[in-house]
Amino acid sequence: MAMDSIVLFGPPGAGKGTQAQRITESTGLPQVSTGDMLRAAVGSGTAVGLEAKRYMDAGKLVPDNVIIQLIIERLKKDDAKGGVMFDGFPRTIPQAEALSQIAYVSHVISINVPDAKIVERICGRFTCKTCGFVYHEVFNPPLVIGSCDHCNETDFKKRADDNEDTVISRLEAYHNQTSPLAEWYKSKGILCEIDGDRNIEEITQDILEALN
Ligand code: AMP
Repeated sequence: MAMDSIVLFGPPGAGKGTQAQRITESTGLPQVSTGDMLRAAVGSGTAVGLEAKRYMDAGKLVPDNVIIQLIIERLKKDDAKGGVMFDGFPRTIPQAEALSQIAYVSHVISINVPDAKIVERICGRFTCKTCGFVYHEVFNPPLVIGSCDHCNETDFKKRADDNEDTVISRLEAYHNQTSPLAEWYKSKGILCEIDGDRNIEEITQDILEALN
């Protein structure tokens, strides 16, 4: 069973992945992103990937049973024994209930960003093809344009669902199915709300303070 795990919570494009990559360096907790796991499954053409792709392309949530199974398997790995940092999970109350049976969550960090900012954030996002580091064309470009700061790769990719059509459905899914979780975790006294509409470094500092 994983101990003392953290949940990064917030709408799509809030910066969960960006902050997870930075917090991993400070806390040593491995990042467990259900979105990354699903994209890997889609890429390798597994049965889970084939099923998930239909939902992801439409900007809808993948069914809870698929997600919960992925998490159960992931938490069996050795690196999860000391706790993990969940990024993009849980996204529904049933997922959170399942999580409470298999891991102890000490902090839920809610990164708050208004809807009006989400579209430009998501549409400008791209990642390094080799190490997966997340950039943004305007807000967080590589130091040397065209070359990854971390591994010098010159090839980048954009997510298939990072476009204006899908982002509306993803926001709808967030408001209808995911945002009620904030109250759920607040009632348990573990929700830390962070203003995500600031520069990346300030947000990281606030998160690290909340974790201390
Ligand atoms: P993300 O990378 O977290 O933005 O997730 C990309 C897409 O994967 C989402 O729009 C959903 O279709 C799917 N997905 C990721 N995590 C979950 C989850 N916890 N529950 C349901 N669907 C998910």
